[in-house]
Amino acid sequence: AERKRKVAAVIEDVEHTLSTPTALLRSISDAMVSEMERGLRGDIHATLKMLITYVDNLPTGNEQGLFYALDLGGTNFRVLRVQLGGKEKRVVQQQYEEVSIPPHLMVGTSMELFDFIAAALSKFVDTEGDDFHLPEGRQRELGFTFSFPVNQTSISSGTLIKWTKGFSINGAVGEDVVSELSKAMERQGLDMKVTALVNDTVGTLAGGRYVDNDVVAAIILGTGTNAAYVEHANAIPKWTGLLPRSQNMVINTEWGSFKSDKLPLSEFDKAMDFESLNPGEQIYEKMISGMYLGEIVRRILLKLAHDAALFGDVVPPKLEQPFVLRTPDMSAMHHDSSHDLKTVGAKLKDIVGVPDTSLEVRYITSHICDIVAERGARLAAAGIYGILKKLGRDKMPSDGSKMPRTVIALDGGLYEHYKKFSSCLETTLTDLLGDDVASSVFTKLANDGSGIGAALLAAAHSQYA
Ligand code: ADP
Ligand code: MG
Repeated sequence: AERKRKVAAVIEDVEHTLSTPTALLRSISDAMVSEMERGLRGDIHATLKMLITYVDNLPTGNEQGLFYALDLGGTNFRVLRVQLGGKEKRVVQQQYEEVSIPPHLMVGTSMELFDFIAAALSKFVDTEGDDFHLPEGRQRELGFTFSFPVNQTSISSGTLIKWTKGFSINGAVGEDVVSELSKAMERQGLDMKVTALVNDTVGTLAGGRYVDNDVVAAIILGTGTNAAYVEHANAIPKWTGLLPRSQNMVINTEWGSFKSDKLPLSEFDKAMDFESLNPGEQIYEKMISGMYLGEIVRRILLKLAHDAALFGDVVPPKLEQPFVLRTPDMSAMHHDSSHDLKTVGAKLKDIVGVPDTSLEVRYITSHICDIVAERGARLAAAGIYGILKKLGRDKMPSDGSKMPRTVIALDGGLYEHYKKFSSCLETTLTDLLGDDVASSVFTKLANDGSGIGAALLAAAHSQYA
């Protein structure tokens, strides 16, 4: 009974500190909007960098020819080639391959990482079949999706600001990532030109717009999280160049680094952040994204094991190991609807090393998954709501006109595979917008839109265009 009381007390405390009442979400979205504005002004203390992407036109559908794309994101990288057939034929042919990044390369040298990527790309190019056509005498062209914060200096160049998501490579910060990749391709004897350097959010936005004209923003919920959207060029005070003819500029918000005293930061978040590769940074990302959700659950279970003997008198040693509980496992436990929570039991056995768990312990574990996933999904919804506010699409037009259709493209393994996460995000967004507005706002899975999007942007900025 004493143990039960302790367990209940810890859970109650966790529920309380991780709770996200709607009123709190509203103030978080307001804080998000003001950080966006600060970032657009160029305030160096803004937590949202609001990076200018040099993408002032999104795909039209007229793009034509053979293009490659390379997506370096988190756990995997993908190579892709696409044959674009213009307005009528669209994507004529498409092939891709996914390669996982050996963990040691994520913390090694920049040259090793880029050599590995260029080698895989080169192998992929070698398998190009007859259904792809490169006109005589032309160089192959590539859109490079690079999902880390970059200070873009043109559409096809930019320097790395910092690594995130478990990457930590010496010497790469401040370097031009396109020139690093190009040098590695040369070392491989691969003749290819990078004509577009894009963030994955920007690629997803481009890929989303290609299939739906009303896409105005793209959100990534994968290993990390980020968002991009189409801003009015005259709403970017820090932009000193000529105003683009389109009057638009795509902004990469880098919202993962959003920080606000409104965020419900718990002791678990603080400890995880403190022990991370990038303490003090990417605070919003650490509360939301796939790299971290399972780890937060682990930390809560560990506290329950320590303070309330959840798994018996000894704390399971495996539970002490950072990142043993991965988000896909958390998701599998969370979706377990069997009467005896069989999957939860199996995961606790495999991952935590506790062979026999009571139904009660399984329920508690599942409940913790729910608390952590729900907080992440609700915080992500608050961010999307913030972007809609910034765009003035969070309420009915004041002149009584019809609400424009608004589509948000979403991608990333977390959003795609964690159903309870994505449905909570959607209900929360509807709740924040209200039914009237929500009936004109749509979320859309843009599955690997960033690859196609990067190829489309490579096409739009082709040296032969
Ligand atoms: P990246 O973000 O690395 O570019 P993805 O978009 O494919 O790659 O996202 C991969 C991430 O998505 C994984 O790190 C994991 O956190 C999360 N994820 C993948 N599958 C699942 C799943 N079944 N349930 C929950 N999260 C998942
Ligand atoms: Mg990705």
